[in-house]
Amino acid sequence: MRDFTADHRWLSINTATVRKQRGQDWPLLQILDACAARGIRAVSPWRDQVHAAGLAATARAVKSHGFELSGYCRGGMFTYSSDAGRQAVRDDNRRALDEACELGAACLVLVVGGLPGALAGRPAHKDLAAARAQVAESVAALLTDARERGMPLAIEPLHPMYAADRACINTLEQALDLCDALDPGRSGAIGVAVDAYHVWWDPKLAQQIARAGRERLLALHVCDWLVPTTDLLEDRGMMGDGVIDLRGLRALVEAQGYAGYSEVEIFSAKNWWQRDGGEVLDTCIQRHRDCV
Ligand code: ZN
Repeated sequence: MRDFTADHRWLSINTATVRKQRGQDWPLLQILDACAARGIRAVSPWRDQVHAAGLAATARAVKSHGFELSGYCRGGMFTYSSDAGRQAVRDDNRRALDEACELGAACLVLVVGGLPGALAGRPAHKDLAAARAQVAESVAALLTDARERGMPLAIEPLHPMYAADRACINTLEQALDLCDALDPGRSGAIGVAVDAYHVWWDPKLAQQIARAGRERLLALHVCDWLVPTTDLLEDRGMMGDGVIDLRGLRALVEAQGYAGYSEVEIFSAKNWWQRDGGEVLDTCIQRHRDCV
């Protein structure tokens, strides 16, 4: 297992971690400058932040700072309730792939979507199985586009509390079942993003990480699970402040040969987003050494 205690060379910052400090959007290009100034070597930007900064300007900044991208957040939201919706999903995910290629990302992270319309508060139906079938069909179609571009797809299973509105793939087992169905040869074109926040509770965690193996382990996201958690989406904890055995999780993925970045991804409306962005980045670096 790699030693993370002495430096932060394997730390990546998911840029949502510092997206809106004290009520103000922190512009992506400034976030990148602040990361570079701290010797952070990798980032994973969100599409809305990239669109606000401009794709070309972001690509130039990534190149000039010498960043690697541990992923690109995100594609997905595959479920729909009309033919027009189906086409819009396909087109949008192709654009996400193109952007990931332009930025040189390691993978396009997929949050697959829940019941169509649920995220907007108007679920079109209650058939979760049908939503899952749409996801499988959409990922299969996107995999063709991804293979053409040489951009791996990383399915991120989300904690079951998001099954209705954000992702109806909720366990590593489900995600890997889909990977195996679409890519039995384990080509590296499709795998999983293991986010500690979403999978730490899973009784099959060790078993499914072993099943994934190196070919399917495309990304590792870290933060912590606070007790109590006060918001379903925006109360993620800084590493070390909660109950996830982060070093134990990293041991599991590294035992399979995972040697990529460990990406800090914290959505924290009432705590970390209320602080100075530089302080948050400095804390991420220290906690990454101490707790990951
Ligand atoms: Zn994640």
